[in-house]
Amino acid sequence: MNCMLVGHYDRYILIDAGVMFPDYDELGVQKIIPDTTFIKKWSHKIEAVVITHGHEDHIGALPWVIPALDPHTPIYASSFTMELIKKRLKENGILVPSRLKVFKIRRRFKAGPFEIEPLRVTHSIPDCCGLVLRCADGTILHTGDWKIDESPLDGKTFDRQFLEELSKEGVTLMMSDSTNVLSPGRTVSESAVADALSRHISGAKGRIITTQFASNIHRLGSIKAAADVTGRKLVFIGMSLRTYLDAAWKDGKAPIDPSTLVKAEDIDAYAPKDLIIVTTGSQAEPRAALNLASYGSSHSFKLNKEDVILYSAKVIPGNESRVMKMLNRISEIGSTIVMGKNEGLHTSGHGYRGELEEVLQIVKPQHFLPIHGELLFLKEHELLGKSTGIRHTTVIKNGEMLGVSHLRNRRVLSNGFSSLGKENLQLMYSDGDKAFGTSTELCVDERLRIASDGIIVVSMEILRPQKIDGMVENTLKGKIKITTRCLWLDKGKLLDTLHKAAHATLSSCPVNCPLAHMERTVSEVLRKTVRKYSGKSPEVIAIALENPAGVLSDELNEKLSGNYNAGFGLPTLRKVVDGHPRRGPPNKMKAEDDSILHLENASEPSLLDDDAEPERFLPVEDSSISSPDYTERLTPNTDDSDELEEHEPEVRSDGTASNGDDSEVTGSQPKSSKPKRNKWKPEEVKKLIKMRGDLHSRFQVVKGRMALWEEISTSLLEDGITRSPAQCKSLWASLVQKYEESKNEKRSHKSWPYFEDMNKVLSDFEATATT
Ligand SMILES: [Zn+2]
Ligand SMILES: [Zn+2]
Repeated sequence: MNCMLVGHYDRYILIDAGVMFPDYDELGVQKIIPDTTFIKKWSHKIEAVVITHGHEDHIGALPWVIPALDPHTPIYASSFTMELIKKRLKENGILVPSRLKVFKIRRRFKAGPFEIEPLRVTHSIPDCCGLVLRCADGTILHTGDWKIDESPLDGKTFDRQFLEELSKEGVTLMMSDSTNVLSPGRTVSESAVADALSRHISGAKGRIITTQFASNIHRLGSIKAAADVTGRKLVFIGMSLRTYLDAAWKDGKAPIDPSTLVKAEDIDAYAPKDLIIVTTGSQAEPRAALNLASYGSSHSFKLNKEDVILYSAKVIPGNESRVMKMLNRISEIGSTIVMGKNEGLHTSGHGYRGELEEVLQIVKPQHFLPIHGELLFLKEHELLGKSTGIRHTTVIKNGEMLGVSHLRNRRVLSNGFSSLGKENLQLMYSDGDKAFGTSTELCVDERLRIASDGIIVVSMEILRPQKIDGMVENTLKGKIKITTRCLWLDKGKLLDTLHKAAHATLSSCPVNCPLAHMERTVSEVLRKTVRKYSGKSPEVIAIALENPAGVLSDELNEKLSGNYNAGFGLPTLRKVVDGHPRRGPPNKMKAEDDSILHLENASEPSLLDDDAEPERFLPVEDSSISSPDYTERLTPNTDDSDELEEHEPEVRSDGTASNGDDSEVTGSQPKSSKPKRNKWKPEEVKKLIKMRGDLHSRFQVVKGRMALWEEISTSLLEDGITRSPAQCKSLWASLVQKYEESKNEKRSHKSWPYFEDMNKVLSDFEATATT
């Protein structure tokens, strides 16, 4: 990004106001802009803005920078550049023509503390200049972006002679473009590219499609010249092509009369051999013409295998992958693509090492500051400067302020510059619409984190313990809804796990726990749960609300009517208050279980479609997080008073339901004075042991056991036994525990009806935690 303050004492000018484009990981960001807050803070010291040329990395930030400046600060630019600036400011509704000053090459003008003399340089857009800034204490040369084109198409050559004169005059500080310092030798002239284009266009039989940077008006001129020679017409597809051509037209230097262009909708009226389609999209920008055509989704033209694509650009670092994909798509269609160095269809606008070295040797500045390029390039350019005999050379980073040596009171660095301190500048981000701010304000890091690790939203309606019919609960209850985005749910299993973890966490909170604490704790636990499950660390948003009536009525409604999905409502509440709940008919049990199974089974496609799942209601028990089977509480119990009793964790003689599980094994005496319904019948238990035994070797894996429990649950269902995978798993855990206890007690071998069955399965194996 180019945006530099250059000053004399406390009076400054701002050279260029460019944008940067985001990296692939800055999601949703369109442009990155200089720190306008700082510019505003210093606006009283900034007396002018001077623009070197019309590329986006030099003018793109003006719509943000201008409003930060004093309302009368003038903006200087060459005439073509000014046309581009005018259009941009007009679009943004901030065009004040009186502030815009067009300068001419080699015509001196006063701006801020300097007398400025623009210098002609060659580059890849018309009307580029370097700047010579003179003041009482010395002369500064800012090169702008440049190459040395010995035979530019507009005949305006790089002004070597001026540099030689300047060298004699003495240059205190030179700042120069470092973009191609790593490329040895010298760049090729734009006229060589014109020849190559002409050759390819003359040789082509069918339709020609070119793609190039829209701002390279000279290149467009070369295409036009070749079109004229071969009798072809030009059609422009892509907005920015017209933007730059219109600016050149207004400036009176366009190589093409815009009115002679074939309209996009008339393409089909021309034979392919009579047409050249000029497109945007050399960088495979998502909405650009050639990229759309590669998908077959351009409204203007369809690519076919007779087409010849002249790729007259370079792939900008960072865009390689998407450009390659676009070219692959075009190859698939069968069009011929002409590109690569040997074809001569492109040349850089930035001087290669040989040119950089030549200019350093001509100017021989006292101080040299490499600019325009990655830090790596700047450092390399610094070394190149040193190698040409410049003693004072350094590299500065964003926000650093340096002085050249006449500021004698400051500490002079060994490199001959004096440090004037460092401002902590923050890049600003625009998402292309309204949003504008720092990376933190636009949540740029968070966007990537959510995209890669997902997001979970947990809403919890909290029911504090209440006294109903003289009974008091001692734990929190919660109605929990979990929604996720960008998260792999493992066919719903992860959601189950999250629900369990959320309920367990809630239950571990004290009954008078503040909502904020619940939110924090649940968020943390869920994040950790996912990290353990899939290695991802999602963003978790937990919202806890007090909603006693809602939760209470919903819970009771479910329990009393047997209809899990029953909504809130007065009738239900009244039943509770009356204390005369009506029991559901006995045959409801099956239906209830079905509905519960349905709800538990988040792998149901209908539930997965939008990554969400229906609300669940679970009374929370005094169970620990590590306990695996909270969802067992979904098992309905038609005895309401039973639900309102205090649930002490129970250890039963049969070893089941130690976490307050509703699943029970009959055949031995549970301690509970209120035996619960939905017990496992002995034959069901035996079936489960058999099935689990058959799958025993498959259970000796670390992951994926839940799928095996699903298999067992399904097999049981085929035998008319409705038990969820979690219920099966829970029962098995209890059975294993009981078996372990019984093993050393001969007596239990006989008294416990399942010992033999269990022994058959487990005696050959280590009876470890294989559930
Ligand atoms: Zn440029
Ligand atoms: Zn540039």
